[in-house]
Amino acid sequence: MISVQATIVNSRGLHARPAAKLAKLAARYNSSTTLYKGKRKADAKSVAALLMLAASEGTNLKIIIEGADEKEAATAVLELIASGFSDDAVPNNPQQPEAITENSNSDKLQMHKVSGIGIGNAVVNGRAHIHSLGATEVARYRIEKQQQAAEIKRYETALALVRSDFELLLQQITEMPGAAEIKPFIDLHLMLLADAEFSSKPQSLIRSRSINAEWALKERVEIISDNFRRLKDAYLRERQRDIEQVMNRLIAAMAINTNHSRTPITTGEKAILIAADLDPADVIQINRLGYKGFITESGGGNSHTAILARSMNIPALIGARGVLACLQHNSTVLLDTQRQIAIINPDSANIKKHKQAHKKDSVKRRHKSSGKGVLTKDKQQITLTTNIELPDETTAAINSGADGIGLFRSEFLFMHRCDLPSEDEQFEIYRTVLSAMHPLPVVIRTLDIGGDKMPEHADAIPIGANPALGVRAIRYCLAMPDLFMTQLRALLRAAAIHDNLRILLPMLAHPQELQRSIALLEVAKEQLRVTQEIDVAMPPVGAMIEVPAAVFIMRALAKQLNFFSIGTNDLIQYIMAADRNDETLTSLCDPMHPAVLQMLALIVENAKRTNLPVNLCGELASDVELTPLMLGLGLRQLSMHPVAIEQVRGQIKQTNCQTMHTITRRVLQAQDPASAREILKEGMRQQGQ
Ligand code: PEP
Ligand code: MG
Repeated sequence: MISVQATIVNSRGLHARPAAKLAKLAARYNSSTTLYKGKRKADAKSVAALLMLAASEGTNLKIIIEGADEKEAATAVLELIASGFSDDAVPNNPQQPEAITENSNSDKLQMHKVSGIGIGNAVVNGRAHIHSLGATEVARYRIEKQQQAAEIKRYETALALVRSDFELLLQQITEMPGAAEIKPFIDLHLMLLADAEFSSKPQSLIRSRSINAEWALKERVEIISDNFRRLKDAYLRERQRDIEQVMNRLIAAMAINTNHSRTPITTGEKAILIAADLDPADVIQINRLGYKGFITESGGGNSHTAILARSMNIPALIGARGVLACLQHNSTVLLDTQRQIAIINPDSANIKKHKQAHKKDSVKRRHKSSGKGVLTKDKQQITLTTNIELPDETTAAINSGADGIGLFRSEFLFMHRCDLPSEDEQFEIYRTVLSAMHPLPVVIRTLDIGGDKMPEHADAIPIGANPALGVRAIRYCLAMPDLFMTQLRALLRAAAIHDNLRILLPMLAHPQELQRSIALLEVAKEQLRVTQEIDVAMPPVGAMIEVPAAVFIMRALAKQLNFFSIGTNDLIQYIMAADRNDETLTSLCDPMHPAVLQMLALIVENAKRTNLPVNLCGELASDVELTPLMLGLGLRQLSMHPVAIEQVRGQIKQTNCQTMHTITRRVLQAQDPASAREILKEGMRQQGQ
């Protein structure tokens, strides 16, 4: 037997995710692991028991480990506790305001105001879609001894059903944005199902007391809930809700042959979902099913429902007591998460007032933090945005303090899979990214495959012997109009909800490619209007300047465009006729080659003539040593990987654009990369740059 001491060091204490991690770890060993907090003890293999221990930050625990592999188990457990459970910071939680409902008789339909805890930052309105949780009231009755086995079977069938629902959901979320963050919430509920509190104790009660399964389950949960209610720590206290949510699922599953079972949430395009409670498994599906947000009667700001809604950017009002009593299916609802209220049957003046206030707030926020750009020494404003490849990287983009997303390479949504992402799936991803970044701009580039990016389905049409020079990017999309239109519709649907989308077309080389793309965009817009009643203003459209031919037709392109973005990765490979993926040719792909520098200068010049902004989004934008040169060339917008932002920002603050402009003019005279470098270095040294 090993007895050790450990202190909980993470700020939220032994909350759900650490408890789940510890229970998972303890279960890997044959030894028993018991945690003692004063007189209270918990089996480390039981998540419920660990949660009930209420071990907050600073709690000293005695741990007794006993069994054949006790040494290994002790080391692993101590390591996990000492690491703070590699604890995930739990998002901030606003104070729970007191719930109020307010009536107004001044309108034809009675207007009600309900308050709760607002999640997110949005004002949305739509029809109410009421979701029934199924049976939560339980019948209590005695059963005959000979019925016990059948009753236990009924309970275990419900256990298996709920488990398979969760497992199916886990499979579905693997492709969702932020899957890694979402998964632990479902894992926790799966672990609770496997916990003795759910997986064996109710059966024992059925046997020992001859009571029905729902009653047995409810009795067990009441004992646990009672313990939770006594916890001082509000955050840990809220874990009771997870236990009740799992119980409610089981009770509804037991009512499967009655009309009291839980019906799956049905699609609710543009509606607002209203329910007594929603558990994490429900929340995960809300975006996919097309809801604009949700409102629950119960729950707190620390509930997993709230945490998940926050991390998935779903506008929500939680703990809105009384909401179900004052609306009906299809009532109009306005949800203002910042003001933490929902208005039932709002009049149009009210909707307008809340939307305008929200717009004003957004503008204020934009001026306060990101979106302001960074100033050079001579007070030139430079915009720094990030490049992302997967929706999960949005968080890194936000954390970098960038002024938006300058390049979202959408092709990564099409890779590592055999099928094509559907319009709904794409819409969901685009909407989530736009919402997370709002009001900052997000530039989503349409599918750019070919070259080094080759999805499994790409052979649907011949891509050419040399993919980099073949049917790539816009060429591929125009050759596959169905695939392109699916993406364009998904983009426009997202733009109908958030006004911060910019669409970027890759690899344009001919004005006709742009004309055809714009024509398809117009068709997609019309299709949405006719078939889905979605009216959307055309978002700004830009072109990648990454083929030398495009540089010389920028004026023609500009007629149908709103911005340019320079893709130096491709531009350099096409100028130098050197495959960007061939390591042996790296020295040829040198951004300091005079041809490259002069091409960049020409692009900036052409963009100026067309009065359109130009961004640089190739890898060159991350090269902090060349940042002053890029500013000297006249570039004022740079887009790069989030990790490069901080260094480049620092460099910009040290740079004087006017001085760099003079030095750059000299660099542009160089006839080879080495002299260009030398002129740059010497010029900067002399000017103290
Ligand atoms: C580029 O070519 O510079 C660019 C940004 O696009 P990608 O690297 O995705 O081809
Ligand atoms: Mg490119």
